[in-house]
Amino acid sequence: MRRLTILITAGPTQEPIDPVRYLSNRSSGKMGYALAEAAQKRGHRVILISGPVSLSCPARVKLILVTTALDMYKEVMKHFRASDVIIKTAAVADWRPARFSGKKIKKGQKTLNLKLIPNPDILKRVGKIKGKNQLLVGFAAETDRPLFHAQQKLLQKKCDWIVLNDVSQKGIGFESDQNQVTLLSRGGQKINLPRMSKKKLAKKILEVIL
Ligand code: C5P
Repeated sequence: MRRLTILITAGPTQEPIDPVRYLSNRSSGKMGYALAEAAQKRGHRVILISGPVSLSCPARVKLILVTTALDMYKEVMKHFRASDVIIKTAAVADWRPARFSGKKIKKGQKTLNLKLIPNPDILKRVGKIKGKNQLLVGFAAETDRPLFHAQQKLLQKKCDWIVLNDVSQKGIGFESDQNQVTLLSRGGQKINLPRMSKKKLAKKILEVIL
């Protein structure tokens, strides 16, 4: 098989409120790191753009560490043209505080209004501008009407594949070492993969999409 360049995003992003606080989410980065390791073991060149996680980078993978969604966006834009496959496992924060307070916000007031503004949807932007030989894979973590929402994402974000995981089920998805996913393709394929470790699942996902 041809040696491909595979760009993977992983982990959460952190959106700073003040020097000690941030908004983030429960993504551990495990799925993205497992994909990076599996892709490298298949002989591909892997660029891993990761938000803050407590995982070590797989051997022979180029790691680019970022903090915010805007940082991740910039790095993806820098590297995606040279990539054959783009896999977006990252749980990008959809919103960021409109204003960063340079000083720690003091408690004391009864309520605190935090104005949030939207972050760029990185996957959607890549979907709009990608070349026809580039394969784009998004992830969808859903809690209600999972298939419907995943199908919508496939179309709206112009992906070739969406990997759906139903995060309302206990013991899979966020923070867990296990996951159970359904792969949906633009061509209408629907492939259910049973519950298994994220490491095994990473290999299976690559077998299907590559
Ligand atoms: O719309 P939703 O956040 O559920 O979509 C998930 C997919 O979109 C994931 O692949 C995620 O990496 C990507 N995404 C993104 N930029 C955002 C939000 C989500 O690339 N701001």
